[in-house]
Amino acid sequence: MTPSTDRNVELFERARERIPGGVNSPVRAFRAVGGTPRFVQRAEGAWFWDANGQRYIDYIGSWGPMILGHGHPAVVEAVQQAVLDGFSFGAPTEREVQLAETIVKLVPTMDMVRLVSSGTEAAMSAIRLARGATGRKHLIKFEGCYHGHADALLVKAGSGLATFGNPTSAGVPPEVAQHTIVLEYNNLEQLEEAFARHGADIACLMIEPIAGNMNFVRATVPFMRRCRELCDRHGALLVFDEVMTGFRVALGGAQSLYGRAIPGFRPDITVLGKVIGGGMPLAAFGGPRAIMEQLAPLGPVYQAGTLSGNPIATACGLATLEQIAQPGFYDTLAARTQSLVDGLSLLARSEGIDFSADCEGGMFGFFLLPELPQNYRTVMTSDGARFNRLFHGLLERGVYIAPALYEAGFVSAAHTDEDIATTLEAAREVFATLRA
Ligand code: PMP
Repeated sequence: MTPSTDRNVELFERARERIPGGVNSPVRAFRAVGGTPRFVQRAEGAWFWDANGQRYIDYIGSWGPMILGHGHPAVVEAVQQAVLDGFSFGAPTEREVQLAETIVKLVPTMDMVRLVSSGTEAAMSAIRLARGATGRKHLIKFEGCYHGHADALLVKAGSGLATFGNPTSAGVPPEVAQHTIVLEYNNLEQLEEAFARHGADIACLMIEPIAGNMNFVRATVPFMRRCRELCDRHGALLVFDEVMTGFRVALGGAQSLYGRAIPGFRPDITVLGKVIGGGMPLAAFGGPRAIMEQLAPLGPVYQAGTLSGNPIATACGLATLEQIAQPGFYDTLAARTQSLVDGLSLLARSEGIDFSADCEGGMFGFFLLPELPQNYRTVMTSDGARFNRLFHGLLERGVYIAPALYEAGFVSAAHTDEDIATTLEAAREVFATLRA
């Protein structure tokens, strides 16, 4: 195809005229891997078609929400019904109550939830709530974890150990970053030091329990146990950002997995998004009643939204949760994801390529590294140029993985054994070209 007949190229050129970088969220622009983003025309099940009519097996699934695959009939029907009843009212609806009831039933560490429209909004509001409930200013976050683009969270580690961070974005005043302590993921020493120095002022520790924004990195069980203990000892709240992992790694989220490993374990506040909206703008944060009742209109912590609990989004979310709560759903999903990850590992090793991979439920990650990394610094030692060759090799063969080495991948219930086999065949060809 020449550039003049390539609709993706044409659309990208037009997009760049009117939308900064041609995209409405930066990772879509293929900046890390180079080349032209694929403009999606339509999607069905595990596949999408680009503007040239080229089909791809989709391992992004809208960055997590599409756990059932695209266009699941029960979800489509629920959305169609909801549309007929009206788009948005700015007044409460029964489905919001049903969705809140369903979420707390499935994630029982929460007594109450507040529905919002994006993960950013949920994480930002959870922090305000934590600060309001504790009357403290500081928060701890970890390098490589992403919690949306609220000012206080766009912060990287400062120069010293357990000191305050620096903004990672222009437009974030240093004063805002001053209250955020950025630590290395899975680093117990830094964690101890941060609490020893600042414990009395820490409102919350926010963490992705399985980090999906530095590819796929688990918090170790001892590390998570210590996070819980130190929060308890110092009166800080443990905030689990399960925007990505919630209803993705297990029906009860990553917290259900840590709960199995650590008796009595629970986060104080949970942040959810992605799967709970089934592809519609919907997110939530929740926790114990005493904390949640600090929110307006009951309490002093203000939080609101014109489109919060949107009737179409709640219909989509409810229909999605109904499907994933079916017995055996996660067993099948996890087995399929595992077969992908095992197949890739085997093929890469047989070509002599350094490769490590991990997965949980319908989420996976792989690294062109001999061992699984434990933190962001190690993730970023991956060979970026080699990853980019792998990405483009797969793309040319109709397999769409995340266009950056620091992003996780997602398998849906619509991916079949045949899709996995096709993917592995493509990977076998591409790995052979990467050997050199
Ligand atoms: N938290 C996590 C763990 C995320 O992965 C994301 C988005 N990828 C967010 C928060 C922000 O969500 P949103 O993009 O819906 O604002």
